[in-house]
Amino acid sequence: MEIDLSKLDIKKAHEHLVNGDFTAVELAEKCLENIKEKNEEINAYLEIYDDVLEQAKKADERIKNKDNVTELTGIPIALKDNILNEGRTVSAGSKILENYKGTYDATIVKKLKDAGVVLIGRTNMDEFAMGASTENSAFGITKNPHDITRVPGGSSGGSAAVVAMDGALGSLGSDTGGSVRQPASFCGAFGFKSTYGTVSRHGLIAMGSSLDQIGPIGKSVSDIEILFDVIKGYDKMDSTSLPDVTEKKKKNDKLTIGIPRHFMKEGIDEDVLENFNQSVEKLKSLGHEVKDIELPNIKYSLAVYYVIMPAEASSNLSRFDGVKYGLRKDGEDLLGDYLETREVGFGAEVKRRVILGTHVLSSGYYDAYYNKANIVRGLIKSDFDKAFDPSADGVDVIITPTSPTPAFKIGEKKDPLSMYLSDIFTTPANVTGIPALSVPSGVVQRDGKDLPVGLQIMANHGREDIIFSIGKDFSN
Ligand code: GLN
Repeated sequence: MEIDLSKLDIKKAHEHLVNGDFTAVELAEKCLENIKEKNEEINAYLEIYDDVLEQAKKADERIKNKDNVTELTGIPIALKDNILNEGRTVSAGSKILENYKGTYDATIVKKLKDAGVVLIGRTNMDEFAMGASTENSAFGITKNPHDITRVPGGSSGGSAAVVAMDGALGSLGSDTGGSVRQPASFCGAFGFKSTYGTVSRHGLIAMGSSLDQIGPIGKSVSDIEILFDVIKGYDKMDSTSLPDVTEKKKKNDKLTIGIPRHFMKEGIDEDVLENFNQSVEKLKSLGHEVKDIELPNIKYSLAVYYVIMPAEASSNLSRFDGVKYGLRKDGEDLLGDYLETREVGFGAEVKRRVILGTHVLSSGYYDAYYNKANIVRGLIKSDFDKAFDPSADGVDVIITPTSPTPAFKIGEKKDPLSMYLSDIFTTPANVTGIPALSVPSGVVQRDGKDLPVGLQIMANHGREDIIFSIGKDFSN
């Protein structure tokens, strides 16, 4: 059978593989062909692994022998460049780790390998996952496959672009403030950040440890579910990992949807708002109840995020000192070595955040910034708790646009603050730890091009089942 990657998702490809319509080797070859044709321009992959076809052969054996075949056996998947893969380069988009090789498999990589995926390669990203456009990579900008003059979003821009350019059927990214959901929305894909603690962070190069979650990008809600089911689960190697709970499965009934309209007044593109209103109408026509809700402190999420995240990132990045990992530059003395290594190894955005983070943690400012941000974080959480509270007539899900704008032009956001504002709708889910999915909700037009935009669906902690249920309802 002729393979058309643009018409396949993981679920369909799995059926074809087990039916013998094509082999995992043929599927991988098709991906490689596509990558060869497109990656030079898009720059979504930083590296294609040299054993792709061997991995695919092993998957074919497994399928032939009906040996523990999973829905992911033989499926081509891409990994963000900050997730450890043993013996392979993992650079976090940074010069400081340019030649660093993973010393072990991240828990999720081990799980994916056990499931029999074919890992195609590692994808480009903003350096240390700091950014919303993939322009901050030390290894060149990734372009949006829908319009190559525009960014794919970030920081998992490479992971979203490989799905959009049919260079893999799914990918993994990391989401600290929106880095899976926003690029998914810019590239017309589905992107998911689950409840904090459901997916192990062991082997993820840390950015903001109380916010980071690894999450899947794919072409349908069922693919997101397939990937999430494999990567989730308690892991003793991650001290914030949640215990496994018996799964709730949402029956497909009608839900109550909350909209914080008061939070969508400023800085949101008119076409994006129009698209969002159409999504609301669609959800109503599907029989769901929609109501306005108030989240009085949600407006502080971005500010809270941009205090807590740099604080945690500056601590996490202190290990890159030229001694323990990666690049080493010699200075005049030990301190000189540190300074020289970090000066040469880190890009401008990383330095900005290390300085910001060090400042908010410094003794004179700790209470004024870091402590205060944590207090406000608690207030935002309690707003969401109330909004979801079933005993207070709470809602099942809360929706917003994923991003206030469609994909912007490469080079357009020169001022870091304007870039940070891209995260306005995505950061609340990280600050509160709740799950959130971005589903494609149509396109808006710019310069004669159709640019994808996304609808973000959030639910209470542990209720990914509700998100998947309504996500499917909306996308079918
Ligand atoms: N754009 C956000 C930032 O720059 C999100 C990053 C992320 O989720 N890794 O911090």
